[in-house]
Amino acid sequence: MSQTIDVKNLSVSYSGKTAVKDVSFSLESGRLIGIIGPNGAGKSTLIKGMLGLEKRDSGEVSILGQELDSVRKEIAYIPQRADIDWDFPILVHNAVLLGRYPRLGLFKRPSAKDKEIAMEALEKVGMAEFAKNQIGQLSGGQQQRVFMARSLAQEADIFFLDEPFVGVDVQSEEIIINILKELRDQGKTIFVIHHDLTKLDEYFDDIILINKKLYGAGPVEEIVTPDLMEAAFKAPLTVLEDTGGQLS
Ligand code: ADP
Ligand code: MG
Repeated sequence: MSQTIDVKNLSVSYSGKTAVKDVSFSLESGRLIGIIGPNGAGKSTLIKGMLGLEKRDSGEVSILGQELDSVRKEIAYIPQRADIDWDFPILVHNAVLLGRYPRLGLFKRPSAKDKEIAMEALEKVGMAEFAKNQIGQLSGGQQQRVFMARSLAQEADIFFLDEPFVGVDVQSEEIIINILKELRDQGKTIFVIHHDLTKLDEYFDDIILINKKLYGAGPVEEIVTPDLMEAAFKAPLTVLEDTGGQLS
C-alpha cells in the first residue's frame, strides 16, 4: 500500500477566478506538514479542494493509495475559527462528542464508551473542567482546544487544521502543537495552515509553500530557502531567522 498523500493537478476557482492552480505534490504520511503562503494565497482553498468541500476544476487526491471518499471517516478537519458560528448553542462536552459520530452506526446514540473517549479528549487538552460550559463563552484558545479534543475523539488518521493558532493564547498553542507532535509520533499525518514564519522548523517536518501555484513541497530545510520564500511571497526576505518577519 502506498504510504503517501498524493495530490495531482488540483485546481479550484471561484466564479471563474483561479484560487489554486494545478497543484501537485506527493508527501509521506506520518509527517507534520505546514502549509504556508501569503494572505489570499489559496491555503484554505487547497485544503477545501483536497477534502472536496469546494468543487475542484480538476485534480485527484489519494490518501495512502485510496480515494478520499473511502477514508473520509479517518479525516478530521478543523476550519478556521473565523469560519465557525460561535453563537451556536452547544455545550463543550457535546461539541467533543460530535467527533464520535462518524464512528457510530446509523441512528445509534453515543454509548458510555463514546462519552468516556470524549471526556478523555477534553482532559488531554486541559478543558475537562469546562465540559458543561457553552462553547461561545470560551476564549479563542479554549475554543481551539475543544476543537482539537473533538478531532482526537474522532480517532482520525489524517488531520487538517486551518490556522489553529490565530487568536489563541500561548498556553493553548503549546498544548495544541504538543498534541500534534504526539499524533505525528503515532504515525498520523497532520496538515496545518500556518501564518507565523518564525517557528517553521520547530513545528513542522514538511512544508507546502503556495501562492496560487505550488512553489515547493518537501522537508522544511528544502522549502524554507530565501529563493523559494521570496518567490512565493514576492518580497525580498532578508532576516527571517532573526526577526521572524511575518510577511502576511
Ligand atoms: P488563504 O487561506 O491563503 O488566505 P483563501 O484560500 O482563503 O486564501 O483564498 C484564496 C483566494 O480565493 C482569495 O483571493 C479569496 O478572496 C478567494 N476566495 C476564498 N474563498 C472564496 C469564496 N467562498 N468565494 C469567492 N472567493 C473566495
Ligand atoms: Mg485561509
